[in-house]
Amino acid sequence: MRVYANPDYPGMKLIDGVERIEFKCKRCGDCCRNRGDITLFPQDIPRIAKFLGMKSGDEFLKEYANKLCPSDRPSFYRYVIKDKGDSACTCIFLDENQKCRIHEVKPPACFMYPFVPIGSELYGECKIQANHCVYNSKLGTGLAFNEYLKEIPIYEEEFEIRKRFNHLMTSLMLKPYSKFYQAMYSAISRALFDGYEISDGKNEVEERLEQAEHWASYI
Ligand code: SF4
Ligand code: SF4
Repeated sequence: MRVYANPDYPGMKLIDGVERIEFKCKRCGDCCRNRGDITLFPQDIPRIAKFLGMKSGDEFLKEYANKLCPSDRPSFYRYVIKDKGDSACTCIFLDENQKCRIHEVKPPACFMYPFVPIGSELYGECKIQANHCVYNSKLGTGLAFNEYLKEIPIYEEEFEIRKRFNHLMTSLMLKPYSKFYQAMYSAISRALFDGYEISDGKNEVEERLEQAEHWASYI
């Protein structure tokens, strides 16, 4: 079995996609505190907005998300879920019974926890977050990581599109940024995240992603 500590992240172990692990969630809610890094993928926006009975993706983003951008490219933004503004930085969707209010449609990072994929190869290597859940998990038994992922609802059908999104966001971080390209980065972010109607489905997301990939090819 190949399990080793990741030197960059002392609280994590690195395993590969065929490693077997038995993991039982004890519903402590710890993974919903001290966050601020739950990234919304494009398709999460209309889906969660619809689940919450909102009229549009923009309405959802305004109420439940924060806009983030890297310091060296201020027009290239994405969205993360807001916290409650308390000292524990509790996710805005965690209720008083430690349950997620959007469990059925929560973003992939939440479904996958405590597994954290490395790079865009989501069925490849991953880290396992050790600080909260490791006492609950046994290596060597249970499902392999890639089998575990396939059990996640809404995941497999969107695997390719999520992979393409990851690849696009990663590649844009490596491309040049200057005043000349500023408007292009902004247009890419708008295409990916803003202006969703709740009826928008997978095709709409794919079309937007294609548009963003096309614009990115000019940078
Ligand atoms: S920290 Fe681990 S055990 Fe606790 S709720 Fe999250 S996934 Fe479950
Ligand atoms: S969206 Fe749900 S599962 Fe994810 S951090 Fe918030 S409360 Fe936790």
